[in-house]
Amino acid sequence: MRLKVYNTETRQKEEVKPLKDNHIRMYTCGPTVYNYAHIGNFRTYVFEDLLRRTIKFFGMKITQVMNLTDVDDKTIKGAIAKNVTLDAFTKVYKEAFFEDLKTLGIEPVEHYPAATDYIQEMIVMIEGLLKRGVAYIGGDKSIYFAIAKFPRYGCLSHLHLDELQAGASNRVNSDEYEKDHVADFVLWKSYDETRDGDIFWESPFGRGRPGWHLECSAMAMHILGEQIDIHVGGIDNCFPHHENEIAQSEAYTEKRFSKVWMHSEHLVVDGKKMSKSLGNFYSLRDILNKGFTGREVRYMLLQVHYKTQLNFTFKGLEAARHTLLRLDDFISRLQEIEEKKLEVLIKTFDLQELIKKTKEQFSKGLSDDLNISFALASLFDLVREVNLLADKKEISSKDAGEILLLLKELDSVLAIFSFEQKEEFIPEEIQNLLEKRIEARNQKDFKQSDLLRDQILQAGYLIEDTATGAKLKKI
Ligand code: AMP
Ligand code: ZN
Repeated sequence: MRLKVYNTETRQKEEVKPLKDNHIRMYTCGPTVYNYAHIGNFRTYVFEDLLRRTIKFFGMKITQVMNLTDVDDKTIKGAIAKNVTLDAFTKVYKEAFFEDLKTLGIEPVEHYPAATDYIQEMIVMIEGLLKRGVAYIGGDKSIYFAIAKFPRYGCLSHLHLDELQAGASNRVNSDEYEKDHVADFVLWKSYDETRDGDIFWESPFGRGRPGWHLECSAMAMHILGEQIDIHVGGIDNCFPHHENEIAQSEAYTEKRFSKVWMHSEHLVVDGKKMSKSLGNFYSLRDILNKGFTGREVRYMLLQVHYKTQLNFTFKGLEAARHTLLRLDDFISRLQEIEEKKLEVLIKTFDLQELIKKTKEQFSKGLSDDLNISFALASLFDLVREVNLLADKKEISSKDAGEILLLLKELDSVLAIFSFEQKEEFIPEEIQNLLEKRIEARNQKDFKQSDLLRDQILQAGYLIEDTATGAKLKKI
């Protein structure tokens, strides 16, 4: 089975075929570390994690980069407002980000470059763009990219340059702007003492700092090479950020930058994008403080196809909790069968067939542009079928072991299961009764032992004799 994904640039589903070897080189735009990331941002990062794990599931290797934007308009403003160095200001949010990734079960990627570690590479790129005549120095001493000199401009967001007003009279100096403001964009922002405090870098074009768009091109190229397989981000990154990345990278190398571009839809609240500027956001910490777990947030974000907007509600989080509890129960049930070593005499099903069907359906769903609903349906079908068979006592300990192995395989993509066996909480007085009963039995006082068993039963607990001794189970 081959993995296909939707390419924003060609507007088609395309097979994921590595440019080199069997190895995908993937760049994912990371957080701007001026605040704690919100769960909208994490929708994009969870999707990218699903994509990464799926690529591996389909047998390919991957090298992934996720940058940390630690210099831009927002981080500079934040550091100055707090009267601390840029490093001290961003450090807190960088650390929090890594902690949050762990909480959400997001697999670490191979490279997390910080923009401030690549300023020299960015300067070299600007020099190259000036030499090629596609960049120019503006009256404000900042350096701009001339979009009119790059005929492919607009290829990603499907804009037609001839309909747009471009040129030196129309340019933007800020890192972010809207689609109706197509313009020459800044590559090097010249230093302004009142605005930038003492945050600047020396360069052949004077003091200043790189533009946000350039940062990603330079880091991607430096770490992954001039041509990469997949470039990913949230849909709001498509324009102008990714459009500008294509322009600078391709004008610089004269080669196609990324073969595939993928964008995930937003997490919304009442139809509006969750964002810091609208103030309608929750950080992961806010949600954890309300008693939810990272696993529940992960599942809530994961279960809806990445190209569909997802409306955030606490009801949705509760539904995620409910589903995970059902899955946990299923896993415990299988683990208990394993412990009991139930021997099955009559079998009305073919386990290998069931495992094969589940794997095939799961892969089929993922192969179709990460159709997660289809993939999850195969899992829920399995749970339903196995539960029915277990009710009929048809699942042996060996079967249970094989099904658990299958779940572990599916979880290499989903990362939502909990395989840890939970110890059931037993009140102390019941535990004491059990100990007395063990004592009575050791003394061969069967009358007393039966009496204690009835007492335990009346309190709502069953005694199960296992290989490791007597255990209590809540009825
Ligand atoms: P930023 O820190 O603003 O650069 O955003 C980091 C990543 O989160 C980018 O890939 C954005 O596209 C993505 N993003 C921002 N807001 C949302 C949202 N509400 N839903 C999904 N992704 C988002
Ligand atoms: Zn980027």
